[in-house]
Amino acid sequence: MSDYMFMLESHMRPQQFAIVQLVQAAAEQAGLNVYLSGGAMRDMLGGFPLQDVDFTVEGSPAKLVKQLAAKNGAVVLAEDALRKSWELRFPSGVVSGIGMAHEARYARPGAKPQVKPATIHEDLRGRDFTINAIALSLNRASRGLLIDPTNGQGDLEAREIRTTGNYTLYDDPSRILRMLRLKTRLGFEVSPRTQSQYENVREAKLELKITPEQLYHELRAMADEPNPGLLIETLEREGLLTLFAPSITGAKLNLPGHEKLLKLRQMVPFGAEFHSENLGLFLFVLTEKLSAKERAGLVKFLGIPKADLATMTKLDAASKKLEATLKSAKLNRASLVYQTLLTAPGEQILYLAYKSAQRLVQDRIKKHLTQYLPGVIEITDQEVSNWCGLAPEDEKFPQKRKDYILGRLDGRIRKPAPEPVPEPEPQPPGRMLRQPSAARAPR
Ligand code: ATP
Ligand code: MG
Repeated sequence: MSDYMFMLESHMRPQQFAIVQLVQAAAEQAGLNVYLSGGAMRDMLGGFPLQDVDFTVEGSPAKLVKQLAAKNGAVVLAEDALRKSWELRFPSGVVSGIGMAHEARYARPGAKPQVKPATIHEDLRGRDFTINAIALSLNRASRGLLIDPTNGQGDLEAREIRTTGNYTLYDDPSRILRMLRLKTRLGFEVSPRTQSQYENVREAKLELKITPEQLYHELRAMADEPNPGLLIETLEREGLLTLFAPSITGAKLNLPGHEKLLKLRQMVPFGAEFHSENLGLFLFVLTEKLSAKERAGLVKFLGIPKADLATMTKLDAASKKLEATLKSAKLNRASLVYQTLLTAPGEQILYLAYKSAQRLVQDRIKKHLTQYLPGVIEITDQEVSNWCGLAPEDEKFPQKRKDYILGRLDGRIRKPAPEPVPEPEPQPPGRMLRQPSAARAPR
């Protein structure tokens, strides 16, 4: 196995790696060359958490997509008929982009491009930024081969965002929004030449060529950013937020709202069983300070699809039942609060933590996030095994684990005393004890 294939497996969640294997096999069967590309490669090589898994295929992936939908339960979330690219969600929750390797020619800035099929090398050279223009072959003869025609790896190392060409931002001005989003997310610098390209594009007011459809695509992507509020602040500072809606400025920006939601999200411990849909919550906070008329104007201008809008408008009514349960006197044990919240949709939990006027509801949610969930994560199978006398492979073990967790939460079962740490060997006098090297901060 090549180093990169190994890196892939160790960097991805098992569900994501399973999709790589699935798509690789399906493409091989269909006789198509397939490459892992885009954000997946950037994030893997840069050591960032991987979001969606992007593939590029030489030739049209239309049949492959159909097959993944029919045989593997993938749901099509979005389709770009012009570029022949699809966004899919697999039953495991993994989101994946599959697109045709292509070349796009722009007659004018912001014009609809002429698209034709191309090789992976040509495709990569026509992408937005060098760090997004790296691919990994998944094909039998060259599996694990890295393709990096614009030295994206060098820019990842230098932590710089650089366009792949001198007209990148002119051709498709929506790339300026992608650039600021990426810069905010990764904390990279924009290279001086790319910065001057950006300034020239702004000077020519080409941002006005960004279509409402592209704007909404960006807005949706913002919802999934780790810090949407920071991005909104950046866009406001750059004078780009008015593109989305002239009404969102000043106090209506709701930066405190975004900050509050961010703090709540950060309470969710890493590795906890917690899933939330970001879009509805994000749209709610984004439009919270707008009047009904302003909100309707924004929805109409961006053409927000009904289903997406419903994620916001239904949040309040959908959370009412959970709120009622959470304030009930019957929920008088930690284990009951834990069980209620473990199965509740994450976006409802965060919405209530953000909005509910009930003190008890707020307190119970915060306890769940900051005490119960972290406590449960620390419980090892070994500990459960010592308590119940069953091996983790035993079919009765999962139920015992649940019983143990609930018992621990309610204090019926005590936390076991920590294993004694062996005494360090005595050192001969005069020798320095070696200091452990400082842990490297994650990039
Ligand atoms: P994320 O982690 O947010 O998914 P991403 O870079 O993967 O980031 P996608 O929108 O999934 O972003 O796009 C996948 C890849 O397609 C990008 O990495 C980039 O190479 C290319 N791409 C997307 N949009 C454009 C664009 N407007 N112009 C050129 N290339 C683009
Ligand atoms: Mg992506």
